[in-house]
Amino acid sequence: MNDICITINLEALAANYRHLSRLAAPVPVAAVVKADAYGLGCEQVVPVLLAEGCRNFFVATFEEARRLTPLLPPDCKPFVLNGFAPADAEVALQSGAIPVVNTPAQLRAWHALAAAQSIRLPLALQLDTGMSRLGLQRAELAAIAADTTLWSRLDLRLVMTHLACADEMASPANTRQRLAFDALAAQLPPTPRSIANSAGIFLDASFHGDLARAGIALYGGKAGDHAGDEIRPVVELAARVIQLRDISAGDAVGYGGQFVATTRRRIATVGVGYADGVPRAIGDRGHAWVAGERVPIVGRVSMDSLALDVSALPRDHVDEGCWAMLLGDRQSIDDLAADAGTIGYEILTRLGRRAERRYVPAAAAALPRKVAV
Ligand SMILES: *Cc1c(COP(=O)(O)O)cnc(C)c1O
Repeated sequence: MNDICITINLEALAANYRHLSRLAAPVPVAAVVKADAYGLGCEQVVPVLLAEGCRNFFVATFEEARRLTPLLPPDCKPFVLNGFAPADAEVALQSGAIPVVNTPAQLRAWHALAAAQSIRLPLALQLDTGMSRLGLQRAELAAIAADTTLWSRLDLRLVMTHLACADEMASPANTRQRLAFDALAAQLPPTPRSIANSAGIFLDASFHGDLARAGIALYGGKAGDHAGDEIRPVVELAARVIQLRDISAGDAVGYGGQFVATTRRRIATVGVGYADGVPRAIGDRGHAWVAGERVPIVGRVSMDSLALDVSALPRDHVDEGCWAMLLGDRQSIDDLAADAGTIGYEILTRLGRRAERRYVPAAAAALPRKVAV
């Protein structure tokens, strides 16, 4: 028997993809499936997105691309956000994945590989427009754009940048970055452009470019401070109550005795802890849902368990073996993240491997729909 169950709703994932596609239309939406689809499992997630018509995928590394390509039709090659290093050459050639080149050195190495193989290789270029994370800076772009010897064997498929503040719709940084991007991209031959992550899709159409790159919103995260509530939760995390007890005033709960009861309390120990991705920081701050009621987490979160104060519930509504919900319709990844002082992305990507995982199939994907390749 498994005391922890993660349910991943692939129909909600499909619905989120359709919703983002409507917002971005006519611009296609690519799926960012780095970190094993934000921890939800590429093997299950990618076929659903393909069935919804998604044709562009982004991962972080060539190792991720190597695992992803067998799931994709032959004409569909993933982009690799972290760029290319010579050590990636073999995987790059075998997978056909397309690096997002971020530095002049990466560009030269990619060109050298093409020359050594006497082939033409595709690439995307990332331009830094104010995040100082990845991508070419202004002077570097000018130098490589002028270097005609570099481009003979290279096929530039996409030019992209990444927004630092897309989750704040009113931030002036968004427009500043878009204008900087337009000015930089103008130095290159006409090439499809990509700016928006999930939050960027909720900005106006001027941010949609020719390809949007959605991650968190596909997986049910709230991408920024826009009003839209159409994004459906994808993940449910439930764990069993494994022990129930009554404690008296003065009794402490958990490591460090941080929570001390001031009155008689009923405490439910739930078999899920920080090893399963429940942030330790929600000790004495977060909540769970038991029998349809919101109950507080008391004391510190342990590796394999946490304590709930279920005193407010009728006694016969809680028993050993019943389920507590940590994530789901009642409590989103963003709600839990807010209590833990983090973001939904971190909640998703840290969900543990110990839980049983159930996948609710997507209605559309369950139909024998042939994917055009
Ligand atoms: C991770 C990532 C995305 C996806 O971002 P979300 O906020 O999850 O939609 C898009 N573009 C780049 C460059 C990324 O690194």
